[in-house]
Amino acid sequence: MNQKARASMRAAIYSEFASPLTIETVADPTPSDHGVVIRVAATGLCRSDWHGWMGHDPDIRLPHVPGHELAGVIEAVGRHVGRWQVGDRVTVPFVCGCGTCAECAAGEHQVCERQFQPGFTHWGSFAQYVAIDYADANLVRLPEAIDFVTAASLGCRFATAFRAIVDQGQLSGGQWVAVHGCGGVGLSAIMIANALGANVIAIDIHEEKLDFARAIGAAETVNAAVVDDVVAQVQSITRGGVHVSLDALGSPTTCFNSIANLRKRGKHIQVGLMLGEHRQPSVPMDQVIANELEILGSHGMQSHRYPAMLAMITAGKLQPEKLVGKTIRLEESLEALTTMDRYPNTGVTVINQFD
Ligand SMILES: [Zn+2]
Ligand SMILES: [Zn+2]
Repeated sequence: MNQKARASMRAAIYSEFASPLTIETVADPTPSDHGVVIRVAATGLCRSDWHGWMGHDPDIRLPHVPGHELAGVIEAVGRHVGRWQVGDRVTVPFVCGCGTCAECAAGEHQVCERQFQPGFTHWGSFAQYVAIDYADANLVRLPEAIDFVTAASLGCRFATAFRAIVDQGQLSGGQWVAVHGCGGVGLSAIMIANALGANVIAIDIHEEKLDFARAIGAAETVNAAVVDDVVAQVQSITRGGVHVSLDALGSPTTCFNSIANLRKRGKHIQVGLMLGEHRQPSVPMDQVIANELEILGSHGMQSHRYPAMLAMITAGKLQPEKLVGKTIRLEESLEALTTMDRYPNTGVTVINQFD
């Protein structure tokens, strides 16, 4: 493979927050000593990219290239990288750990003290190439059976849901789990929880999302726009509340309900981001104490947990491709990103043409 056939790459860039993006030709990235450059084959559009573009993320410096849900082929390798070679098919978590701080040494790269986040702390993957630092600690090898579009769709929503349900929730077969919000993370969580043998209650305000939730494994649904009391409804279905509950949306109401609908010693997992004036929501702390509830956050998933998720996909237990909505060209991302808040899609939109 010719590493330097191109002198420059195409990228979607913004120079001001909440202003139009343009396609620009910019210099190809070069790998750091511990990093690689990946030729992007597919990259997902995510609400976090929209928040970044709106100026909600203090890590972003302008001008900026968004994109953190990527899969592709290694194009160039830094001189201190040991595990990877040009031509390897890879994906990467959206939080890349440094590999050497105390958290990384404990295997908790998702809360690394020196995080590298493509599309946030550095330029991302709405481009033909992206540079990823700390390659040995973070890259994930893709099985041949998993195509790039599917792999990109795992990037943040699916992997985040996997960690929330499997590692943080410790959900097991026969337990009840409530998933508040049936967007990308919520639908992923429903599929994963169902595959583990748990009974899933999906909660949303849109009937078509609840229909889709049932199609991928929800045993019960609650339409929060129709039901007077979501918590009472969940407690009635489960005769006392769920063992595990996710706020997959991130709002004061869904956060409160997700804690309040737990049975004794249940676990609430906060996955949906709480930003702006929602950063400090009120919670039913009386129930947390009296019922010994647990409140957990979940923030991405470290690369060494990907093989467990990928094995469930190649075994056919999880079908993340069902959550992919449509594929688009890089040009189409300019509008798709900036209108995300107005046209929320049920499925993940993935960019897979960059020329
Ligand atoms: Zn670290
Ligand atoms: Zn994302």
